Amino acid sequence: MKLPPMAQHQPGTRPETRLTTAPPPGPIRPHPQTAARSRHAFRTRLAGWLSCSLLITLLGTASDAPLSQLMDRELTCPVCRQAFVDVACINANTRGGIDRDLFARSLGPQPEYYRIATCPRCGYSGYDSDFAEDVFIPPDMRDRVLRSPRLSLPEGFSPESDPRDLDAADRYALALTCYRWRQQSDEAIAWLHLRASWIERDKGAVLPHDPRLARVMGYLERWRPPLRPGGNQADVEMQLATRTAEALATGHFNRYQRPYVQLALALILRGRGENRQAAPLLTDLVQDSLLPAQLSESIERMRASILLEAKQQRAAADHLERALLINQINAANTPSAWYLLGELFRRLGRDFEAIPAYQRALDAPELPPDLRDWARQQQAWCRK
Ligand SMILES: [Zn+2]
Repeated sequence: MKLPPMAQHQPGTRPETRLTTAPPPGPIRPHPQTAARSRHAFRTRLAGWLSCSLLITLLGTASDAPLSQLMDRELTCPVCRQAFVDVACINANTRGGIDRDLFARSLGPQPEYYRIATCPRCGYSGYDSDFAEDVFIPPDMRDRVLRSPRLSLPEGFSPESDPRDLDAADRYALALTCYRWRQQSDEAIAWLHLRASWIERDKGAVLPHDPRLARVMGYLERWRPPLRPGGNQADVEMQLATRTAEALATGHFNRYQRPYVQLALALILRGRGENRQAAPLLTDLVQDSLLPAQLSESIERMRASILLEAKQQRAAADHLERALLINQINAANTPSAWYLLGELFRRLGRDFEAIPAYQRALDAPELPPDLRDWARQQQAWCRK
């Protein structure tokens, strides 16, 4: 198994065959409880992109930075003038780790779920800035939203509904329609698709509570390397995945433990969007008769979520590539955009296209140092 590029071997204890750790309660996700333990934060220096308000703010976060929080915000729809209350996420931080395609997880609520506001009356959607007082909505755009073809909200969602009842994926889909109608830039549309792919990743990386799986997850924790100051939680998880894969490959688990260990490994990889490794593990598990029905059903859902994520990634790559080819992205952000395009290609299994895109990033002296390291590692991985 070719593990992700950030997964370096870490020496550690040999696995035992007995799994003894008590299971944590609730649905099983790969990272939250361990992330909460982290005292350190990953610091990135993405100077160029911070200047663009649409781009994720990958600011270095102090280890004692407050948890992200939800708060109400009042907005007025620039299309239909409906005033409404939406939910915003403040104190975004990167303490949950940053995936290599720049998906930053906070400790606390995840900001990506709350970036897009939707008018509960007409469906107009976008970032906060798309609801600013000076946003100009051309008459034909207004007509499209309100009359023909008309945006439609999910059934039952109205101005009286709790804004949290609207699924983030639906919000992004509505925002994408609005951005196309408003003829926004390919770069902006690429970012909406990228963020929508992150939502599919996060939603897809969850399994129902199962005592045996929880015991396996607890057992694997002994192989988690410590998070160094300034380290990235995502890299730590990939190292844990490497140790787990090695243990599986060397036959450390018996017939009854293996499917659970394999599923735990798939969950860790899925959580970070390393789907090229997660997908074959899941395919292998679909027919495993040792797993209970509820886990088998979740495996199917996880496989479906990988397809949904890839669909958004393909659209993001198409728009980002077009934006780069027509010089739409400002000069300071261009090297980082080439990096991101390379990373999208890598995740989509298009290594032959990823290699030159990473190279375009590496050829630019202004590429931020963190991205330079990542571009080198991931390009080398694609060449293997
Ligand atoms: Zn409206």
